[in-house]
Amino acid sequence: MSHNDNNGLFRHIPSVDEVLKNPAVQSLLDKIPRVLVIDAVRGAAAQIRDDIKSGLLRTPPNTEPRNHLMREAVTRAANMARLNNRPNLRRVLNLTGVVLHTNLGRAVLAKTARQAINEAASGYSNLELDLQTGKRGSRYAPVEELLTGLTGAEAALVVNNNAAAVLLALGTLTKGKEVIVSRGQLVEIGGSFRIPEVMAQSGARLVEVGATNKTHPRDYRNAITSETALLLHVHTSNYRIVGFTRETSIAELVSMGQEFNLPVMSDLGSGSLADMVSLGLPGEPTVQEVVRDGSDVVTFSGDKLLGGPQAGIIVGKKKYVERMKKNPLTRAIRIEKFTVSALEATLRLYLDPPEAMHTVPTLAMLSAGRAELEPLAAGLRNKLTATAGDKATFTLVEISSAVGGGALPTAEIPSWAVEVLPWEMTVSELASGLRKTEPAVIGRLQDHRLLLDVRTLQPGEEDALVRVLTGVLRGGAAG
Ligand SMILES: *Cc1c(COP(=O)(O)O)cnc(C)c1O
Repeated sequence: MSHNDNNGLFRHIPSVDEVLKNPAVQSLLDKIPRVLVIDAVRGAAAQIRDDIKSGLLRTPPNTEPRNHLMREAVTRAANMARLNNRPNLRRVLNLTGVVLHTNLGRAVLAKTARQAINEAASGYSNLELDLQTGKRGSRYAPVEELLTGLTGAEAALVVNNNAAAVLLALGTLTKGKEVIVSRGQLVEIGGSFRIPEVMAQSGARLVEVGATNKTHPRDYRNAITSETALLLHVHTSNYRIVGFTRETSIAELVSMGQEFNLPVMSDLGSGSLADMVSLGLPGEPTVQEVVRDGSDVVTFSGDKLLGGPQAGIIVGKKKYVERMKKNPLTRAIRIEKFTVSALEATLRLYLDPPEAMHTVPTLAMLSAGRAELEPLAAGLRNKLTATAGDKATFTLVEISSAVGGGALPTAEIPSWAVEVLPWEMTVSELASGLRKTEPAVIGRLQDHRLLLDVRTLQPGEEDALVRVLTGVLRGGAAG
């Protein structure tokens, strides 16, 4: 067929109106907004024009060009309309084994926390109404008592995230004066959250002391002047300095703070209420311990090891927390009702610590042992071999999962994975295909293999995983 003949197809491309009148396209309008269907019909026409131009689209022999192009336009428009109608934020199956994956939304909420959000969203609530007195109440009241009870602190406040908590605390407590911090604790969390930059934003002036690997109490002592407003301790949550090291402890800072009448603040980052050692993980100072050591202010995230919604939790001495509550910035970084509801429900689970290990998904995933995960991985391998064993090799392998979320960076948690070695596509083609399925699947790429760590697969997700993975390996439009 000559180039010219192919070009002749252009005049047979159906118009937008003609495609819209097609019954198959009409039936799409029951479920998909008209504006998205029209976009899809236009997109399909543009694609058909491109494919004719490049020679990709031709009319098979003995076929009426007009009918052929109509069928093409309808099929393509229907697919595009369905894609246009998918939410942009959607479900992802996390097979990376990273329990607190910031790019995948960090903590999976407990069932009661999900129910609480639903309840808060479905009607009105006493968010800022005291039901006892009928007067205006505080939106922090539902979580304040739980936080002080669980941590032993005098007072509590919750803001949008921990970066905001650090900003608020530093701005309130220093008012442009100096903050002394160890060089070994100038943390960058990722997404450009750097302690020195947050300090600058808060108006506090940073005084760095010590060396990267060692900071002695005398280094802080020598830096204290009449301009000093605060001693800051930052938990090096996402890295460890090992070897020839010396960190001045919170207790040492607290006794120095008492001597010079200076408050001590601890940014804990992850801030766990549960003892990680009992989960077989490296020791992390718990919030309770840091409060007991005498920190005047402690900040930590709601959606890291705590396993709750995104939030920045501040606990500490009443006189400091009260000053923060009065700072106008607090209004700008306040939490919404969904955060209050989910945080309250999550904190309630910690009232029964042994149960929390099962009911808080973050803790349950972190505490799952290899013996518990092996049958899960073996079951998945068997199902995949049954549905797609002619397209890939599936092998059971022992690997290590990570905590993630900038917590416990050196912890390697023994886990099981299914290793996928595809026969008819590259591993990066497989990974790319899996990002486009419904739900999307994110695994771990390693040495031309795709590893599926079952630690982070949620209950009830296995069938969907088998379906979309089989679909991509078969080269069909999965999902
Ligand atoms: C994660 C982290 C933060 C930031 O917390 P977000 O809740 O992500 O804003 C601040 N400080 C430390 C030490 C952290 O680990």
